[in-house]
Amino acid sequence: MSATETPDRAGELRHRLAQVRERIEAAAAEAGRDPHEITLVVVTKFFPASDLRILAELGVTDVGENRHQEAHDKVAELADLPFRWHFIGGLQSNKAAAVAAYADVVESVDRAKLVPGLARGAQSVGRELDVLLQVSLDPPDASGGRAGVDPVDLSSLAARVVETEGLRLGGLMAVAPLGEDPDVALGRLARIRSEWLEEHPEATVLSAGMSGDLEAAVRAGATHLRLGRAVLGERPPVQ
Ligand SMILES: *Cc1c(COP(=O)(O)O)cnc(C)c1O
Repeated sequence: MSATETPDRAGELRHRLAQVRERIEAAAAEAGRDPHEITLVVVTKFFPASDLRILAELGVTDVGENRHQEAHDKVAELADLPFRWHFIGGLQSNKAAAVAAYADVVESVDRAKLVPGLARGAQSVGRELDVLLQVSLDPPDASGGRAGVDPVDLSSLAARVVETEGLRLGGLMAVAPLGEDPDVALGRLARIRSEWLEEHPEATVLSAGMSGDLEAAVRAGATHLRLGRAVLGERPPVQ
């Protein structure tokens, strides 16, 4: 039986979600932060739409997807639910407009080439799109491109977003590199962000923290945690 076919999936998700919320509250308390300033984004990639219906009933407001086709299909199927949809995956520039037409937030903006398509997609549905800039936490000499803009290029990318009609600059997003102490990587992120806030005091979102490093992310000032496995269990194999 796979994780998504347990007889009482609703009970399982209720239980896991309660544990995750306790973890967030404990991390916030330890960091001297108000847990209410931290938003849980449940990453639902690979899990069926039926799980998202359960999550909505359990009070989840924000969900994240990382692949365009899957996200597009789920948004269409779940149009009756008031979710805020976060696109968190690597984005091809030829898909940017399509993603912007259904996403509420695109968290993975890492290059200026995405900007015109995102703006066009947002304007096609007559609204402003919230955009986060994904900043790379890799050491400068890292090979094998993980996503994210180099911190030295952050200001110019931000300027492109700010000057573009249809886009609203919300803040920053990052993924801690594998194999490094998350407190070290996310500490670097916290420093990048404090400089960032001097230039962009209104762009306060910091999306960081996954199931394995949420406590470190809360310590580093994350306002949004992107949690998949902690809430939903191990992901089903790729179809
Ligand atoms: C899958 C994914 C997550 C969630 O990871 P978990 O380890 O399942 O919590 C968070 N952020 C991004 C960008 C992801 O692709």
